[in-house]
Amino acid sequence: MLLDRFEKQFPAIVNALKNARKAKRLAHAYLLHGDNPQQRKDFSLLLAQIAICPQPQPNGSPCGKCKTCAQIISENYPELYTLSPSSKSRIIPVGDNEREPDTVRWFESLFYLTSVTEAGKKIGIIYDADRMKTEAQNAFLKTLEEPPPNTFLILATGNPSELLPTIRSRCQSILLLENRCEYDFNGASELFDALFELQFESDNLVKAENCAQKVIGISNALFTDSEEKIEAEWKKKAKSPENEDLSASEKKQIEERKKAAIEAEYRRNRAYFLSAVHSWFAQVYMLSCGIPLSEIPNPEIFETRNIDIKNLNEKDTFKSLSAAEEFLQNLNWNVNEELTMRCFCLNAAKFSSGEE
Ligand SMILES: [Zn+2]
Repeated sequence: MLLDRFEKQFPAIVNALKNARKAKRLAHAYLLHGDNPQQRKDFSLLLAQIAICPQPQPNGSPCGKCKTCAQIISENYPELYTLSPSSKSRIIPVGDNEREPDTVRWFESLFYLTSVTEAGKKIGIIYDADRMKTEAQNAFLKTLEEPPPNTFLILATGNPSELLPTIRSRCQSILLLENRCEYDFNGASELFDALFELQFESDNLVKAENCAQKVIGISNALFTDSEEKIEAEWKKKAKSPENEDLSASEKKQIEERKKAAIEAEYRRNRAYFLSAVHSWFAQVYMLSCGIPLSEIPNPEIFETRNIDIKNLNEKDTFKSLSAAEEFLQNLNWNVNEELTMRCFCLNAAKFSSGEE
């Protein structure tokens, strides 16, 4: 359950929100700042539950069992409205009028419609709110200042500095930052295995080439994995493209949103993939410099992989780290990613450090 998870992860924040609900003092708008998009999304849904569960526990916790709680978690609550960047421009546009879907004007108009739920409570979540340009932020400001009654707004972002001070000051801030990264993309564990092999067991060209193939395979699978995950999520929604009752234009709109969601998921996974590569070599280097395992950000990646820490050579680990950093930089330039990855693997492998 989301509540259990976040109570462990961010106890003070969750407690403060529960108390606010209990005292009927929740703000009408929250700005959620976190570095993990999935976490921002999950926390937004928990926050929505805290705000509108009709039968909260005496301590302010959402019940987690009622129809409203269930609908929020499955994103099927009829008055849960979300806005996120479109797939093409990666921007949240102002829009010409409220009939233009996935624009600020369209989003705002939803909160003025007659309520269809018993409680009449509306939830609005803007994901990647920093993708609203100044014009769009200004357009949204009025709704944020004077939201229609029974409206609860959440702006989620990884870059709050991109938001206007006027927007930020009208929201209550929640900070979900951690000093570490969760590598939860498909193939993360296999990637660390391959990097371990690359750095410590590839003493010849064939082995290094073998590792390169593994790394490339994991990277290549990221898009299909993202596609499958979002497809599965979308199937659970009432408004899925398969729904026969929808009009052609509605279907098109949903397809467009799904496409944007797949691309966002892919970008997220790829960012974590690249970060994982860097993190591996950076942390091995830290260990070689004598920093204790307990003080590095992700000690768990070394738990199952037996590294002989005492015999790490600072010079070699630095060379591998440099190869990784060069690789990440080259990705910005090089169009042939597979070739870049292969070069990097050969550079980072043990045999190239000249100690075979
Ligand atoms: Zn509930």
